[in-house]
Amino acid sequence: MNTQARILESGQIEAPAGQIPFLRLAGVDVFSHRAERFRQLSQGHPLGGYLAFLGTLAQAQQEALAHFPAVPLPAPEQQVLCREHGMPLLGAQAWPRDLAWRTGLKVILRYMSVVSLPAPASEAVARLMQASEAELEETAGKLLMGDLAAVNAQDMPFVAAALQVYWIHMAAALGEHAFGRLEQGGLCPACGSHPVAGVVRVGGEEQGLRYLSCSLCATEWHMVRIKCSSCESTHGIHYYALEGSNGAVKAESCDDCDTYLKLLYMEKDSQVEALADDLATLPLDVLMDEAGKARGGPNLFFHPGVV
Ligand SMILES: [Zn+2]
Ligand SMILES: [Zn+2]
Repeated sequence: MNTQARILESGQIEAPAGQIPFLRLAGVDVFSHRAERFRQLSQGHPLGGYLAFLGTLAQAQQEALAHFPAVPLPAPEQQVLCREHGMPLLGAQAWPRDLAWRTGLKVILRYMSVVSLPAPASEAVARLMQASEAELEETAGKLLMGDLAAVNAQDMPFVAAALQVYWIHMAAALGEHAFGRLEQGGLCPACGSHPVAGVVRVGGEEQGLRYLSCSLCATEWHMVRIKCSSCESTHGIHYYALEGSNGAVKAESCDDCDTYLKLLYMEKDSQVEALADDLATLPLDVLMDEAGKARGGPNLFFHPGVV
């Protein structure tokens, strides 16, 4: 089955690099789109409650993004330097966070405080509204370092949501020409984070191309197919899908570094959204875990201690 999948993947002819958009920043309606997808996916889904909650949270994120204040951005010299040296301009850990991200968090918490939520989520909203600046910064630091297990599982979605809004706002304010390619092709050119998933697109010059989608700032960047996004190996790449699925989501695994990343095929489902569809296919993560493979990038709404 893997060999067959491999042949199909290899059959795709890609346009030469340079003729295709390398980078696609998240659009201004990124969270509305995500909210809609979460709502669709929540229907009749075993994790429907959580997916619906994340749909509401995405709406709150859209609200926060729409009212986000102007924030300090890297100076033009810094932009040139980063492009020349293949470094992420808005490095998730290196960039000095402006306190505006906490203002965004407040908008999100206020939005969530007036909707109906399960008790643990309501408690987290109340707790975070009272949390000290130091506590929030500490939680943000752990999240951005990728140490998700060290973050309180109930607090995580709210803090992650606020950080996503802040980074998406900054990337949009800079514009795609501010960003260059990184040395490491599997990391986000804007913020240096790992991808949450990859999307094989349809339509126009992007037909059949794979774009990785950033787990933090939702920037999408091109990476050729049949290549591990973690170690960039092109050998020992295999594809797994859940039995009985329509093939819209597959896990691409690598024998060299034993990681995997999900690929979403717009040809099979034009509505796919990297972060939402990743969460809605957790049984595939269980399958990959059993096969001894680790995720190649985090989903900031998937606490390692919960599943
Ligand atoms: Zn990013
Ligand atoms: Zn690899």
